[in-house]
Amino acid sequence: MAQIIDGKQIAADLVAEVANGAQAIFSEYGIRPGLAVVLVGDDPASQVYVRNKVARATEAGLNSIEHRLPADTDQATLNALVDELNNDPAVHGILVQLPLPEQLNEEEIISRINPRKDVDGFHPINVGELAIGNATLVPCTPQGCLLMLEKTLGDLSGKHAVVIGRSNIVGKPMALLLLHANCTVSIVHSRTRNPQELCKQADIVVAAVGRTEMVDASWVKEGATVIDVGINVTERDGKRKLLGDVNFADVEPVANAITPVPGGVGPMTIACLMNNTLIAARNQLS
Ligand code: NDP
Repeated sequence: MAQIIDGKQIAADLVAEVANGAQAIFSEYGIRPGLAVVLVGDDPASQVYVRNKVARATEAGLNSIEHRLPADTDQATLNALVDELNNDPAVHGILVQLPLPEQLNEEEIISRINPRKDVDGFHPINVGELAIGNATLVPCTPQGCLLMLEKTLGDLSGKHAVVIGRSNIVGKPMALLLLHANCTVSIVHSRTRNPQELCKQADIVVAAVGRTEMVDASWVKEGATVIDVGINVTERDGKRKLLGDVNFADVEPVANAITPVPGGVGPMTIACLMNNTLIAARNQLS
């Protein structure tokens, strides 16, 4: 039987640490680290994510400021809001919830956020800092995956890690973090030949594909540790269910440890956003 990696508990511990850090800032400076969350439009999934982020921020003793803009917001209006938040000393972290409505240019917005306030870690400067091993603000989902791996396995040196997916928000930064942790890293994507064979050699598998239960036991080496990033909303037996990229029931018997969906990577992503806001506040105040 595999160890089930309890993302909820690890996330709760991290949020408690952030709350201590936020309290220390309050004691020293009389202010609370401020996180501005910007939501444009009414995408239902984005609304749930923003609600959860704001709730967790309050729990962590941060001051969260929510900005909701209509779906037909134009680029100039969103640019102006980002500029205002960049210049507001009470705001230490800025998160613009993605995806944005199609009339808006995501790259332009990401690059416009002050890199020191970029708590998503998506700004090209922060991406470059991560590539050279000098990162301050690391993208939240891969940061959370790394923390869970380190909690479960300790030192990751020399392990063979396979990351399935090469997106800018999960796959690529995950591969860089594992490389900096001295893993030997392979990246599997839609053009990879024999992905299953490659994956089967891995000590660590991180699945970030967006394909429901694509990874079954035939992809996983006996005793591997499996992190499932996927969140796929699926109808099953007439019910709406959240399923991962990993077939949990099939893989759990062969794995050493595995994250569940939900209750694995999801809570860690939000906790790491709180952590990044604290880091950003410390850097701006010191
Ligand atoms: P993207 O769609 O941006 O990237 C998916 C990646 O998977 C691409 O690199 C793609 O390859 C690769 N891929 C697609 N099909 C295959 C295949 N058959 N074999 C191998 N590789 C394949 O997704 P994201 O990275 O944004 O998200 C991945 C998943 O993680 C989604 O389910 C998303 O909902 C979830 N997610 C969860 C978060 C959380 O907090 N738990 C946070 C962020 C995402 P190519 O580049 O060649 O097209």
